[in-house]
Amino acid sequence: MVNYARMLSTFLDLVKIKAESGAEQPVVQYILPRLRRLGLVIRQGSEERAENIVAVLPPTHDRNRCIALSAHMDTVFLSKPVVPRIREGVITSSGDTILGADDRAGIAAILEGLETLTEKRIPHHCIEIIFTVKEETGLEGAKKLDLNQLQASMAFIIDNGADPGHIVVQAPSHVKIKWEISGRAAHAGASPENGVNAILAAAEGLRQIKSGRIDHETTANIGMIHGGGATNIVCDSVIVEGEARSNCEKKLEDTVSAMVEAMEKGSESLGAKVKTRVQKSYRSFTLTEMAPSVQWASSAVRRCGLIPVLISTGGGSDANILNEKGIEAVTLGTGAKNAHTSEEYILERDLYTLGDIVYAIMNGA
Ligand SMILES: [Zn+2]
Repeated sequence: MVNYARMLSTFLDLVKIKAESGAEQPVVQYILPRLRRLGLVIRQGSEERAENIVAVLPPTHDRNRCIALSAHMDTVFLSKPVVPRIREGVITSSGDTILGADDRAGIAAILEGLETLTEKRIPHHCIEIIFTVKEETGLEGAKKLDLNQLQASMAFIIDNGADPGHIVVQAPSHVKIKWEISGRAAHAGASPENGVNAILAAAEGLRQIKSGRIDHETTANIGMIHGGGATNIVCDSVIVEGEARSNCEKKLEDTVSAMVEAMEKGSESLGAKVKTRVQKSYRSFTLTEMAPSVQWASSAVRRCGLIPVLISTGGGSDANILNEKGIEAVTLGTGAKNAHTSEEYILERDLYTLGDIVYAIMNGA
């Protein structure tokens, strides 16, 4: 068991630190001295910069494997610092901000695992710690990780809203689509017949796009639309942005092509021109229960007295990027609920269970 009082105090320290995506420096400044004190060698990271931290705890003499644990240091946008509250075992913000348990719970669990491991002088393998920046804005920190700095054959990302004991073994690929629809401007009162209305053209394209849940492993969404300048001008430019996700590469490709084709056909039928940009943001992964990382995590969960639950998620995480880079990675449930809203909370009990699971992963097999 880890030290729950110490873990709670670390967690509360962390949630009070305001550090949104791209401005993680205050969290870096909290974490780095702690890692050094615990005997980790810092491979990347400096108090002066908001950038990824990569650190390693060398193995005790009788162990030779290498595992990595990771969490992200940024939060979504915060209007003001978080004031955490604990009532009857539930940790929340004061109600007008996020709590930031996504992903401060992950960081607190990793730091507490390291504290307990070194304090009890437990034999352990080589443990690499990765704290990333800019996860919330598109896994940007993980994408910049330098593989040459890592030896781990498997990684555990402590960052999912499911309960502790849940292990994410499947996550979809993700593609972003941006359309620029160009019509022709004209005076809406004097010569509307000279115009081509980009808003109507976009609407015609959108009418033909299939979105929402396409099938059990594929989704599509139109998330943003903007354009137009005044009511007396036939609108000549509209930008529409959407996305698609699937666990199956072929289905994703088909869904994206269908969306692109529908928009182009629809808009062009009203005389507008369409410029389409398709951008892959991350790749899917699927691991079986026999995969070494899944077995390692499951064994840790069992040693904490829980039954491991393998799940699939519709969202991406740093695990997508690590799998893509060739390090087998699963994401672990933290118990942080309603992330990215002012209703966010985590049960004190779940926080401590998470600490125990992370510690069990560190001293594992
Ligand atoms: Zn997160």
